[in-house]
Amino acid sequence: MIKVCPSCSSTWAGGTHCEDCGAALHDPFEPGAREKLPQGIWRYIRLQYGARRGMLVRVLAFLSVPVVFGLGARAAVVQPSPWSAIGLTLSALSAAASWATIYWIAGKAVRLWVLRRGQLNRRRLARALVRRVISSEE
Ligand SMILES: [Zn+2]
Repeated sequence: MIKVCPSCSSTWAGGTHCEDCGAALHDPFEPGAREKLPQGIWRYIRLQYGARRGMLVRVLAFLSVPVVFGLGARAAVVQPSPWSAIGLTLSALSAAASWATIYWIAGKAVRLWVLRRGQLNRRRLARALVRRVISSEE
């Protein structure tokens, strides 16, 4: 569970008061949180959860290494002499390849679906600020 500070937008893993500014923290999923928290916070929470999801997939990628190597090695060791060594090498290589592939895909996914959305919103925010400055000067 995360808690959010309504005045400085820090997120905390629990507690009642913000350690940065001392304001009372709110649970973003409690009833009425939509009115208590600043609107920009929802985008930030989505960003945080997206980044965390990417991290979890990378941990899974790391855990896939012993599984892939184990399956390959189990099939390789029962083969006659030169093939068992070749099979062991290949299963080590494919374990490394599966890790690298999942890790790369997770990074790409975070960049595409999580960070790019944040960038788009930042650009839109900058445009809105420029428009406000221009319209106030007229
Ligand atoms: Zn705060």
